[in-house]
Amino acid sequence: MLTLLDFSRTELRALMQEWGQPGFRGDQIYDWLHKELAASPEEMTNLPKELRARLAAETQCNPLQLIVQIDSRDRLTRKALFRLTDGATIEVVLMLYNSRRTVCISTQVGCGMGCTFCATAQGGLMRNLSAGEIIAQVHWFERYLRQEGPAELHVQRPTRLTNVVVMGMGEPLANYQALIKALRAIADPDGFTLSARSLTVSTVGLVPMIDRLSGEPLPIRLAVSLHASSNRLRNQLVPINKRYPLESLLAACQRYVQKTGRRITFEYALMRGINDSGQQAGQLADLLVGLLCHVNLIPLNPIPNSPFQPSSDEDTKMFQQVLERAGVAATVRLRRGIEINAGCGQLRQAAQQPDLIQMI
Ligand code: SF4
Repeated sequence: MLTLLDFSRTELRALMQEWGQPGFRGDQIYDWLHKELAASPEEMTNLPKELRARLAAETQCNPLQLIVQIDSRDRLTRKALFRLTDGATIEVVLMLYNSRRTVCISTQVGCGMGCTFCATAQGGLMRNLSAGEIIAQVHWFERYLRQEGPAELHVQRPTRLTNVVVMGMGEPLANYQALIKALRAIADPDGFTLSARSLTVSTVGLVPMIDRLSGEPLPIRLAVSLHASSNRLRNQLVPINKRYPLESLLAACQRYVQKTGRRITFEYALMRGINDSGQQAGQLADLLVGLLCHVNLIPLNPIPNSPFQPSSDEDTKMFQQVLERAGVAATVRLRRGIEINAGCGQLRQAAQQPDLIQMI
């Protein structure tokens, strides 16, 4: 069955022509999908009845089926687990801040990068998501905000997502084509209309893909998950470092900044006794000083039975101060949804356990 969200506007026009329809029907379908967030052809009231019937029989608008969603106690973080058409499952997280409504989306089922502290890595990579499966995650929460949204969100309805971060399950740059196609649709000024500057793509450091991304006309933001300041430690935490060590990764980051003029964010998950000493903070500052960048320090979301635990508040503060004294901008990111397994891959893993099934 075809997933309509996999098609660009041009591709939908071509599909309609293939079906013996005028090309503008493709524009109408695109507008229904990306502007009105139609979840079924039945809603597309300006299409002929027979065309709607054929669309209903041969295509799907929404490839996601909700399995479970859980709110944090303050109801400002909502995590959802979805089943895809082939039965695979993915996670999506909505985070509400004072002025931002951010959705964190996935690009792969599982992940092949093998980061040792990450729940998603434990099952390996199953497959890439299609562009439509990526877009559908954004649409799901956009629909929720427009139509319903939590009462705690004291804003007038309908309201909208303000940011998309591609930091969920998977390495986004390992699924490059689908990622870019999805981001183009999300940032389409004649479609979903979220500003490309509100989109952030996170990578563990696929150097050739960072270079490729720097040539894209979309002015999206780049975040690089660093997590270590020496190759020795990074080889253990983020195994892709053996292929693209820190020197080569940071050189690619330099090229990216030179070419785009945009600041890079470095993500650094602070793990107690592993990467959070003052000496490691100094080493990190030496690596980054002079580069147009910002460091996000994130106390790790602990995985049950894992040796990796979050750093203490004192060590987190100390780490931040060392960076700032050296002239490297650093903030501590609020840890969201810790009681709802909000770290990447954790809900999916927990869903295989019986106690969570009771909550569904
Ligand atoms: S941290 Fe990201 S890149 Fe690393 S294994 Fe987990 S999902 Fe993949």
